[in-house]
Amino acid sequence: MIRYLTELSLEHFTEAARNVPYQQIQSGLFFGADVWIRRDDLIDPLLSGNKAYKLIYNLLEARKQGKDTIVTCGGAWSNHIHATAAAGQRFGFKTVGIIRGERPAKLSAMLQDSERFGMELRFVDRSLYRERHQKGFLERVDMCLLDSWFIPEGGANLEGGRGVQLLGKIIGEASPIGFDECWCPCGTGLTLGALTSSLPSSTQPVGVPVLKAEESILAIVKEWGSSGGEIKPPMLISDAQHGGYGKRSEQLDAFQARFEALAGFGLDHVYTAKLAFALEARLKGESKVYHGDHKTRVLLLHTGGLQGRRGLYGA
Ligand SMILES: *Cc1c(COP(=O)(O)O)cnc(C)c1O
Repeated sequence: MIRYLTELSLEHFTEAARNVPYQQIQSGLFFGADVWIRRDDLIDPLLSGNKAYKLIYNLLEARKQGKDTIVTCGGAWSNHIHATAAAGQRFGFKTVGIIRGERPAKLSAMLQDSERFGMELRFVDRSLYRERHQKGFLERVDMCLLDSWFIPEGGANLEGGRGVQLLGKIIGEASPIGFDECWCPCGTGLTLGALTSSLPSSTQPVGVPVLKAEESILAIVKEWGSSGGEIKPPMLISDAQHGGYGKRSEQLDAFQARFEALAGFGLDHVYTAKLAFALEARLKGESKVYHGDHKTRVLLLHTGGLQGRRGLYGA
């Protein structure tokens, strides 16, 4: 069995993704539903979670076009920056990270890692960073290298979405049981959108936004939805943000600690803790639902992000 992403090829990646473990949560954490979690945090120790899926076609395309450098952008705690830096080191690309804000006296643990993986960090002030989606941004930050492949923030481009569609297809083909619902956390919404267009039609996609951005998430979902055939519109859980991006609440912290103790593995506080909390809140408020002969079968996606937990301790 293939473990970890040691080789840059679609076959190898697909094989690793098909071997990602599924875990049934039996600890009494969730009542009224049969809840499983797909551990995409384990696909690789460094290229982990949904960021691995968003990177794969980007890396393959960069290689195909003979680009030797990957340029991307993000904030000081970006999982995407971290994964891109690790991918560059692993597969032999130079990497440049355009980072929002001034260079601080002490880098975040994530940026320290990224530098150690060989990424060149270029800090740009916040007003210039705001132009990252506009034409001419790379010229303005002096990063218009001929031999470079640019990936937008979070891995949110066509190649990124294609990688997540591969995940949706693999869930349809390689899951131990068929699922009625598939839940994922949403930042930009690209993951939810690309899943919506690729999960089996019998599986309802459910997104949990971790920041107040339902409208832009729905717009991205619509864009991706129209790329496939018939799709099931996703459900969005809109009150699970706990105050906004990266913010926490006492209830969330208590739930995360209880979940981790009972399930035996970690969640990250920005995305997956809010995801699991939202499912518990929904199940608590509902009577048991049967689909034919079985309780609702729910798949949670562990989208990774565990390296960002160091932010909790002020690292
Ligand atoms: C980036 C990230 C997400 C959000 O993905 P989007 O496609 O931007 O919605 C979810 N979970 C984790 C752990 C992430 O790092």
